[in-house]
Amino acid sequence: MPAFTSENLENNAIGATLALMAAAARTAPKAMGIDALEIFALDGAEKQEIADVMKTLAIEGDPSAEKWLRDAGNVEIADALFVIGLKKHAGSAGANCQACGHASCVEFGKAPKISATFRGPTCAFKLVDLGIAIGSAVKAAGILNVDNRIMFRAGAAIMKSQWGAKLSIAFATPLRISGKSPFFDRQV
Ligand code: SF4
Repeated sequence: MPAFTSENLENNAIGATLALMAAAARTAPKAMGIDALEIFALDGAEKQEIADVMKTLAIEGDPSAEKWLRDAGNVEIADALFVIGLKKHAGSAGANCQACGHASCVEFGKAPKISATFRGPTCAFKLVDLGIAIGSAVKAAGILNVDNRIMFRAGAAIMKSQWGAKLSIAFATPLRISGKSPFFDRQV
């Protein structure tokens, strides 16, 4: 057997990719330089837990049920699941821009906290920060040729799991190294 099998090398590549995705997200620009991101990754039983939650969200008869099951299958076969979320009640950027629908950041701070799948309200600048960080992370994965796909549904399952307890919103990105990306050319 060679000192390094392809399986060994590819497993190491997943770990290295997750690390560089985290670095890209962490160093992405943040409004006013205030960082409210939580970044982590799951694999094995932890990742399977998220796929299982996604399956429970596939409500029979709902037009989106097949999409939940499709994405759950993608998470199941992924090598790892990379997660970026905003801390719960991450606060405001202090710009008083009214993009959140409130007259000022102070009024935003007084608004009732709503907890559904995601927890609002959320400062628009924080959501922009989150989007830039996610884009930076998947850019890093793409440069490294590791197949990936940003998933809202996997993020929703994160929020409904133990991993979402301290978050207000999350998106999750499964990674896969294989001969054919499972994340594209999907039938549903
Ligand atoms: S979106 Fe709302 S909370 Fe954020 S800076 Fe603008 S007014 Fe303040």
